[in-house]
Amino acid sequence: MSEGFDAVDIIRAKRDGLHLTDDEIDWVVDAFTREVVAPEQMSALAMAICLRGMSPGETARWTAAMIASGERLDLTGLGRPSVDKHSTGGVGDKVTLPLAPLVAALGVVVPQLSGRGLGHTGGTLDKLEAIRGWRAALTVEELRAQLTDVGAAICAAGPGLAPADARLYALRDVTGTVESIPLIASSIMSKKIAEGAGALVLDVKVGSGAFMKELASARDLAETMVGLGREAGMPTVALLTDMSTPLGRSAGNALEVAESVEVLSGGGPADVVELTLALAREMLSAAGLGDVDPADALADGRAMDVWRRMITAQGGDADAPLPVARERDVVVAPEGGVLQRLDAYGVGVAAWRLGAGRSRQGEPVQAAAGVQWHAVPGDVVRAGAPLLTMHTDDPARLERARQALDGVWTITASTPESARGAAGVDGRRVSRPMILGRVQ
Ligand code: URA
Repeated sequence: MSEGFDAVDIIRAKRDGLHLTDDEIDWVVDAFTREVVAPEQMSALAMAICLRGMSPGETARWTAAMIASGERLDLTGLGRPSVDKHSTGGVGDKVTLPLAPLVAALGVVVPQLSGRGLGHTGGTLDKLEAIRGWRAALTVEELRAQLTDVGAAICAAGPGLAPADARLYALRDVTGTVESIPLIASSIMSKKIAEGAGALVLDVKVGSGAFMKELASARDLAETMVGLGREAGMPTVALLTDMSTPLGRSAGNALEVAESVEVLSGGGPADVVELTLALAREMLSAAGLGDVDPADALADGRAMDVWRRMITAQGGDADAPLPVARERDVVVAPEGGVLQRLDAYGVGVAAWRLGAGRSRQGEPVQAAAGVQWHAVPGDVVRAGAPLLTMHTDDPARLERARQALDGVWTITASTPESARGAAGVDGRRVSRPMILGRVQ
C-alpha cells in the first residue's frame, strides 16, 4: 500500500476539481478503513466528490480499493446458481423481503447482503429487525450454511466485507453526501463484487423519492454500475423503476414487513407485486431459468415457506406480532376528488422524521414508526376521509412529520364516474408505469 500521502492534500485536490491518482485513492480508502484518516476528513472528501464527481477511471479504482479493504467471499460450490439483487434506495421499497425467498424457492441461491436506511430511504436490515429476535449479522460460515440449507439469506455485509463501504455509508448518511453517482455506484458494487454472487440484478430508482431524480442520471448510474460489474466478470443488469410515488401502501420498518408478508401470502399492493415479479424474472433469467414463472411460487405458498425458514434461521420469530406504534395521527383529505399525485420524497421524509430512519450515526430506529397511505394516484378520495396515517412512539415527532407531508398530494376535482373511468378504484391495479428502462 502506498504511504506518504496527506488526507488534506487529497481533499484539496478533489475540492479543486483535480483527478485523484490510483495511489491517492488506494491510500485514502485504506487509511480511512484503518482509522488513520478521520471521519471528518472522509466526510469532507465525500462532499468534494459529491460536488466535483469522479471520472470512470477514478470510480473503478475507488471501487477496487473498497473491495480490497476486506475479504472476498467465494460462493461457488453451493451446487446452484447464485444471483443477488440490489436497489439504489427508495420510499416504501420492501421488495427484497418477498423477492429473496421467492427466487430461492425456484432453485436460485440468493445471498442478499443489505444495508440500513440511508437518508429518507428505508433500509432492509432496519425493516427485518422489526421481527422479534431476527439478527442481521451472520458469520461467513453461517451465511454459507444458510444458503445451503434455505437458499436465501438477507444479512449485513459483515465487518470483513468491504469494510470501507460500511464506514463510508454510515458517514454519508449523516453528512448530506449520498447523492453522487460515483459514491453510490462504488458503494453498491464494492459490496456486490466482494460478496461473490454469480450475477447481479439492480433496481435503479428514478423520481422524487430516489437519489436520482431524473431518468438521465438514473441511466448514468445504471450504466456505471453495469460497467463495473462487467469489468469484474459479474454479469449485471439494471431495471430503471419509478420512485416518484412511494411503493406499496406504507413506509416504515414493521409496516413494510407486514406488507411484504401480504405479498408472500399471494396478496399485497399491485405495484409491489409487479416489481417483485419483474425483478424475479431478471434474476431467474440471469441464473439460466428464464422460462420459470415466479408468479406461481408467490400464489402457492412456496415463497412463504422459504421466508419462514429464512427468518427462523436468523433467530427471528416469523409468527410474533409486529410492533405497533404508541401514537397514530390521521391526515384527512381536505377535499374530495381524484388523487393525482403522492410524492415519494415527502412521504419518505415524514417516515424518517417519525423515527423510521436515523439522523445521527448509529442511532436506533423505531421499529413501528412510519407512514401509511390510504389512497394511491388514480383513486377517488372523499373530503374528510383518511388519506395518510402517521405512526410513531414519540408524539413530539408528529408536528415535523406533518410539515413534511405538506404539499405531498394533489387532489383534483372530478366526478366519481369520470374518475373511475380513468383509473378504477379496485386498489389492485398499478396506476403508473413501474419499469422505465433496462440497462445491460
Ligand atoms: N445503497 C448502497 O449500498 N449504497 C449507496 O450509496 C446507496 C444505496
